[in-house]
Amino acid sequence: MREIVAAIHAAVPPGLTVKLYAGISRSDYVGPMWAIIDDLVNQDGIAGVDLHGHEPAPAEAWTAPVWARLRAAGKVTKCHAGEFDGARRVREAIEQLGVTRVQHGVRSIEDPAVVALAVEGGVTFDITPISNVRLQIVPNLAAHPLRALMNAGVNCTVSTDDQLVFNNTPLDEYRALATEAGVTRAELALIAGSGWRVADVSAAESAAAQADNARLTAV
Ligand SMILES: [Zn+2]
Repeated sequence: MREIVAAIHAAVPPGLTVKLYAGISRSDYVGPMWAIIDDLVNQDGIAGVDLHGHEPAPAEAWTAPVWARLRAAGKVTKCHAGEFDGARRVREAIEQLGVTRVQHGVRSIEDPAVVALAVEGGVTFDITPISNVRLQIVPNLAAHPLRALMNAGVNCTVSTDDQLVFNNTPLDEYRALATEAGVTRAELALIAGSGWRVADVSAAESAAAQADNARLTAV
C-alpha cells in the first residue's frame, strides 16, 4: 500500500495537484485488510477515504469508529450513499459515519427530512449527473434532482464518476446539464463555486478559483 501511494505521487506531473482517496468497500474490514485500513491514519500521502460497495447493506459496525479516527488524524471522510439505495443510506452516512461529503446523495430527494438533515449539517453532495443516467439512478438529465437539491439549500458539486468506465470529462457534465437539463450559466457558476468552496486545496487557492469563477460568470 505504501509503495503504491508513493509511486502514484512520484508519477504526478509538475503543476498538477493530486489528492489520493482510499476507496474502501463496506465489507472490506476483514482479514489482512484490517491492518491496511488501520494504518491509513499514519499515511501522509492519503488525503482521505470513501466508503463504497454494496449500498443496500448497512454500514458495518467497524465503520463509524474508523471514520472518526481518520477525521481525528486530519483525513477527509466520504461515503457513497443515495445512489443504489434510498435516502436512508444518506441519513446513515451523516448521522452514524459523521461525513460531510456524500458521494451522489441524489436519492435523498425521496425523503425531505434527509434533505433537511443535509442542509442543517452543511453536507455536500458530490454529484455525477452522466453516471446517474447511465446507471439508471435517474431516467434522464431533465429528471435529475440536482436543481431541486440546490434549491433546497444543499451544497452540490458536479464532477465525473469513474473516468475509465464512463469516459467523460467535467466539461462534458457541465455541457450536458446545460443542453439536456436546462441548467443556466448562473446555476453552473454556482455549482463550480460550491466545488471550490469544499475543495481539498489551500484557502488561498480556493479563494483565487472562486474569484476567477465570479469573474468568468460576469463576462
Ligand atoms: Zn461513485
